[in-house]
Amino acid sequence: MRKRLALCLALCMLLAGCGFQTECQKHSITLFGTFDTVVTLTGYASEKSFQQEAGKVREMLEYYSMVFDAYQEYDGMNNLCTLNRLGGQAAVTVPEPLADVILQCQRLAQDVDGGTNIALGSVLFLWHDFREAYAKNPENASLPDERTLQLAAEHTCLTDVTVDEAASTVRYEDAALKLDLGAVAKGYAAQKIAEMLLKSDMPSFLLSLGGNVVAGEAPLDGRAFWSVGVQDPSDQYGATLDVVFVTERSVVTSGDYQRYCLIDGTRYHHIIDPETLYPAQYVRAVTVVCQDAFLADYLSTALFLMPPEQGMTLVETLENVEALWVTQDNTVQMTPGMKEIAQSQGANAHRLAGE
Ligand code: ADP
Ligand code: MG
Repeated sequence: MRKRLALCLALCMLLAGCGFQTECQKHSITLFGTFDTVVTLTGYASEKSFQQEAGKVREMLEYYSMVFDAYQEYDGMNNLCTLNRLGGQAAVTVPEPLADVILQCQRLAQDVDGGTNIALGSVLFLWHDFREAYAKNPENASLPDERTLQLAAEHTCLTDVTVDEAASTVRYEDAALKLDLGAVAKGYAAQKIAEMLLKSDMPSFLLSLGGNVVAGEAPLDGRAFWSVGVQDPSDQYGATLDVVFVTERSVVTSGDYQRYCLIDGTRYHHIIDPETLYPAQYVRAVTVVCQDAFLADYLSTALFLMPPEQGMTLVETLENVEALWVTQDNTVQMTPGMKEIAQSQGANAHRLAGE
């Protein structure tokens, strides 16, 4: 009798929530209007759970997109735009994620020797203004001049940003410094959303936030992995160059093919080399796979800002980080671990010199 009761109980527990597989179906939703990009969420859950989780995802996207907005302020919060306006004059009380992301970037800057510098805002805003002017009227838009870029570059030292974690305040010791979180904001938000979903009724999900993809637990249709396409930068229709198979991993790409202006054959894109102060020319795209979406976003920008050989050496020093490079001449290079999770198994990847 006891045994039967225990069996019954176990069965009930299995049928409750999403153990009840017939209720769990694949759902997808596309969300617009946050982070200046398109977001898609796919998940295996009951209709009710999916709608509930999608609602939470939308709320989180709206919140983080406001907090990290460098161009517009909002009532009731001191966001990045407010901080850039006031941080040079006094310590500004900011939402916890804003202080947290700055601190995390400061810590990473000590460990990772790369070009991702969120304090490069004064330089990046000049390039942003140029791209905006170009989009409105290509004839009248002039490239930022070298002298102006160099003057702006004198105010880009990340150690001039003081964060008081306990008080959640931030202050700029250099009054002309500006922060730009474009390189990490989407990854940070994607990571927070993924952590929420993994603990929710829908731990089996795939979230794509612009070039930032996070896979949750395996799809509930028998497949062991989610498949994530890596775009071919040279294909104007966005054809897939390879597919990587992942669960509970992030797949983040930085490329020169999404936000750019083409002038006299030169591609002026949005990832700026802090050495030259001009768009970096090492590669066309880099895809990073690792567990944390924020780290993946930080690293994808960092690896975009160095030659692939140097990037390979950097990745070798990091645990559980894989990368794929598409070089200027459109050859593909991969870390050995990336070859293992890529559909091509690296068949179309060329070996790096010295590998
Ligand atoms: P995307 O935003 O297209 O996903 P990235 O994650 O590489 O690509 O971030 C690019 C953004 O990062 C730019 O739009 C800009 O806001 C910012 N950025 C550009 N160059 C740098 C840099 N050297 N260091 C830090 N941030 C940068
Ligand atoms: Mg990035």
